[in-house]
Amino acid sequence: MNNLNEFESEIESRIGNKRFLHTLRVRDTAVELAKIHGEDEEKASIAGFLHDCAKIKDINLLKFEAKKNDLLLTQDMVKAPQIIHSHLGAIFANKLYGIDDEDILNAIIYHTTGRPNMSNLEKIIFLADYIEPKRNFPGVEKARELARENLDKAMYFALNNTLKFLVEENSYIVIETVLARNFYGEMDLWKLFLNLFLQQ
Ligand code: FE
Ligand code: FE
Repeated sequence: MNNLNEFESEIESRIGNKRFLHTLRVRDTAVELAKIHGEDEEKASIAGFLHDCAKIKDINLLKFEAKKNDLLLTQDMVKAPQIIHSHLGAIFANKLYGIDDEDILNAIIYHTTGRPNMSNLEKIIFLADYIEPKRNFPGVEKARELARENLDKAMYFALNNTLKFLVEENSYIVIETVLARNFYGEMDLWKLFLNLFLQQ
């Protein structure tokens, strides 16, 4: 499909060496998860490699680039600037690196917040970012186990953990993350059954 090697140094100089090495680990983890779950490995590789391609450290520069690329900052982006790089990343992937696959672009856009009813590729990128080998937080082993077993259960676990963390940090919470968390909580078959039963 696409040979992105030629963009490596450009991306590395934009996001820094540390973040660049993280993107390589996310790429490899995403390919691994794609293999396990029978998803397109090439797409997982591209989305993983590009997911943080706009993660510019300097917030003013990030906002400047957003403006330059006609990305209108939403209320959420103003209150939670860490989500800007996901949206700008999809714009860069498209404009600078020639990616037009909708699923890959969505995987980049939603890798930070998640959203309800994600495609398998979207889940794979979200989770690969969460569990890549250098991640180290309480529960990461459980998340790695779940990501191999069941993408939906892993999403619920990761989203719950993320929300707990955001609450503890007194951070602004983007509504998509809450909606995604509720969505994946309901994916539990037993709960679905129970809800149907209760609605009657
Ligand atoms: Fe990111
Ligand atoms: Fe990342």
